[in-house]
Amino acid sequence: MARAILELTGVGKTFRSADGHVRPVLDRVDLSLREGEIVALLGPSGSGKSTLLRILAGLLPVDAGEVRYRGQPLFGPARAIGMVFQSFALFPWLTVQQNVELGLEARGMARAARAAKAGAAIALIGLAGYEGALPRELSGGMRQRVGIARALVTEPDVLLMDEAFSALDVLTGERLREDILELWQGGSMPTKAMLVVSHNIEEAVVMADRVLVLAADPGRIRCQLAIQLPRPREPDGADARALVDEIYALMTSGAGRAARGAGATRPALAARLPRADVGRMDGLLELLADQPFDGHADLPRLAEASELADADLLPLAHALAQLGLVQLDSGDLQLSALGRRYVDGGHGLRRELFGQQLLAHVPLVAHIRHSLEQEASGQLPDKPFLDLLREHLGEAEATDLLHTAVSWARHGEVFEYDARAGLLRLPTGEDEGGEAA
Ligand code: ADP
Ligand code: MG
Repeated sequence: MARAILELTGVGKTFRSADGHVRPVLDRVDLSLREGEIVALLGPSGSGKSTLLRILAGLLPVDAGEVRYRGQPLFGPARAIGMVFQSFALFPWLTVQQNVELGLEARGMARAARAAKAGAAIALIGLAGYEGALPRELSGGMRQRVGIARALVTEPDVLLMDEAFSALDVLTGERLREDILELWQGGSMPTKAMLVVSHNIEEAVVMADRVLVLAADPGRIRCQLAIQLPRPREPDGADARALVDEIYALMTSGAGRAARGAGATRPALAARLPRADVGRMDGLLELLADQPFDGHADLPRLAEASELADADLLPLAHALAQLGLVQLDSGDLQLSALGRRYVDGGHGLRRELFGQQLLAHVPLVAHIRHSLEQEASGQLPDKPFLDLLREHLGEAEATDLLHTAVSWARHGEVFEYDARAGLLRLPTGEDEGGEAA
């Protein structure tokens, strides 16, 4: 077996929130990245993928365990490790050439050498001729190419990519991914190993020699899978499809348990909700209920039929499972009897069933509803609820979670929310129709 370039053993990480609460984010993570391999990291949003990447780059210290780079403990940012971010992170006032040269400047390289190296990296990634352009003059795909050139110009031993293709449209993302694989296989990159965080199962199957799946709360490695398909890989080939199915199954197993909410470390009230839009939930249920699926489909087929990306389909599937409208098992979605009633029902019945399931299966929604019922005015400020969530979640996540709960609760007419006034209230009129979520 090739030797490990980067190695994590028993890594744990906690974050302290503003009010001093300590939250575990990663728990006992073992991971090694070996010479010559591409590893893909999949996992739900918030499972600690970006945190893990920053740890691997030496940007973030660990609270437990060890990080080694080529056998030596890693303390502080490592020059040999390059990173590419989803957001491109380019300086808007610098040209392509200047953006790429930045990393070299920091190393005190002479001007001429810098220019030559940056020029070569820009050409390698297919941007020759654009050296003088400003980021705003480039398309998203080209901007991300600059981001990659900036990482490659330092000749990193290891390249870490954090959802580097997910801000791009599908075709542009695929094209860039293929170009990177071609450089990798052609040996024109100095890089010895790559770790790719992805939201996209197909992307992981096309790129990686090994796929690691993270579970959330706290983040830990749920399982790993070797991918031995010959390259270049055809994402629509039978072998690739079978692997995509298998990973879907791995990522959705135990959905029943997750549905009951509370992880070991977090009260049920603050359990994350899948970021799922109610309109899309309805759409997906209808698609599932209809021919040719007739209530039963595996997720890859459904992804195809619905034209949804994995990153959007999985939260929808988890949300429907949590609400008991479908059963999710080994990557298969099965409409439940309740789900069938829901789909067949009119507007009113759908609201009623949705509301009833929310109260039964989403503790945060039930808690807010019960609190509002105690009030003569039928309303309460959002602050105490947000404060409660902030004890267990980051600021942005607490707000996100409340917003998801509100959008679901509106659909089930469980409560209303006036975001500007920061007020939650019981629904007033009969069937007054929803405000925009
Ligand atoms: P992912 O990339 O898988 O979506 P992240 O690694 O970004 O997940 O985040 C994992 C968890 O750690 C989240 O709950 C997030 O709010 C929290 N977190 C990340 N960075 C910080 C930080 N600097 N301070 C506090 N909490 C953080
Ligand atoms: Mg992330």
